[in-house]
Amino acid sequence: MSGRVFILGAGASRSDTATRAIPLPLAREFFKPHYLDEHWPGRPGLSRHFQGSELQKLVDSYFSKTTDINASRSDVNVEEVYSFIETYRTLYMSRAYQPQVVLDRARAELLYDIEFVVKYCSFGVKSPVLNGRLAKILAPGDSIISFNWDTLTERALRKSKEGRALLRRFDAIASPGKGALEGTNPSAALSDMHAGYFLKMHGGVNMTKCINEHCLRYRYPYVWPDDEEFVDGWACNQCGSRTEIMILPPHIHKTYSGNRFFRLQASIAAQKLRLADEVVVIGYSFPTFDFEASAMMRCARSDFCEEADDLGPFQNRLVLVNPACHEMNYIERAKDLFSVAAMGAGQIEVVCYKTVGDYLQAEMRSRSKQPKASSVTNQL
Ligand SMILES: [Zn+2]
Repeated sequence: MSGRVFILGAGASRSDTATRAIPLPLAREFFKPHYLDEHWPGRPGLSRHFQGSELQKLVDSYFSKTTDINASRSDVNVEEVYSFIETYRTLYMSRAYQPQVVLDRARAELLYDIEFVVKYCSFGVKSPVLNGRLAKILAPGDSIISFNWDTLTERALRKSKEGRALLRRFDAIASPGKGALEGTNPSAALSDMHAGYFLKMHGGVNMTKCINEHCLRYRYPYVWPDDEEFVDGWACNQCGSRTEIMILPPHIHKTYSGNRFFRLQASIAAQKLRLADEVVVIGYSFPTFDFEASAMMRCARSDFCEEADDLGPFQNRLVLVNPACHEMNYIERAKDLFSVAAMGAGQIEVVCYKTVGDYLQAEMRSRSKQPKASSVTNQL
């Protein structure tokens, strides 16, 4: 039994907070004025306001496109800013006129800003609609691969039996000492392969890690309760070093391979995609600079050695839920990654929905029936 794989991007969390005064932002909205005004962290030792902060100076210096700073800043991608700071600090520091401490402060401000915005734009949302429905329809073997930093999915998963099983397995991945070593038994290893998983590919605001590279807790994150407010104010309980929030935007110097937890998740994700009979992509835009995520999805294709041909692929349905579903570039990108055309006519059915509401209505109320005519069905 292969199961389904749900891939969740920022659009999924956005839809679950859409009715709030300030919904969870997409990657290009973090620097819009209302997010900076309402949720700027103002932590001790850092600037009390965005204006005047090291982060503000950095964003305006390196990302402005026009002389109107507010307008220019409003379209800046937060993942690109984080990637830029990390790369600057590790690779291009020799050309910097600023001391390292300034970049370090900008990085700390950005991490706190992401944490506060993500946490408080979703704070108190007890019953997220999309995530709640997903949790209810999960079958044994279904998996969720999330690229989101918020905890909406965890909150929903706690309310269903299958969801709680996914969270237990997630805890085992984060802290293997708690029982994930049963894989030495062959039958347990097989059931593990077909089990469902919940994976947070980019970490989350409920996870922290020790900053000491030699510490156990550098590799094994702390996973905090979903709505815990101050997760990064504690010293590491293994070595006493400072801890910081564990989020991973895609960039070259912080890949999945650089950390045990992220590497293990990526390996499991590729395996689940390889075995899945249906992949449902909700609110994920397939960003071209997220090379490792793209490679992971491409791994869902059949293996390139002849001996493996009879193993698959197993996938027979690809569902895309995204406002960009009317754009051929988006659909073609998804088809390419999941080998739709390469598999030949009719092998993989592609179904597109522009909104989460359309998807929920058409798919979840009648799982066993064909999609309704109102959806754009693109069968090759
Ligand atoms: Zn430590």
